[in-house]
Amino acid sequence: MGQVKCVRCGEEREALSAPPLVGARGQKVQENVCAACWEEWIEQSKNIINHYGIEVADPNQRRRLYAVMAEFLKLEAL
Ligand SMILES: [Zn+2]
Repeated sequence: MGQVKCVRCGEEREALSAPPLVGARGQKVQENVCAACWEEWIEQSKNIINHYGIEVADPNQRRRLYAVMAEFLKLEAL
């Protein structure tokens, strides 16, 4: 498994073994975010989904979640 220079924590850490999402977004995450930070996002996203009652099956609501994700993982700056 490879290493990645993570944009969120700034460390060289273990990368995800596969893109965690489909398409370009998943690839961007895999190439820029370490596995540990992704795990943190998974935990955080559960709270957000519960708190805001986000329906992840709804594309519009999913887009909102992705926006929060980009902010959390600091992918916006890329
Ligand atoms: Zn990280």
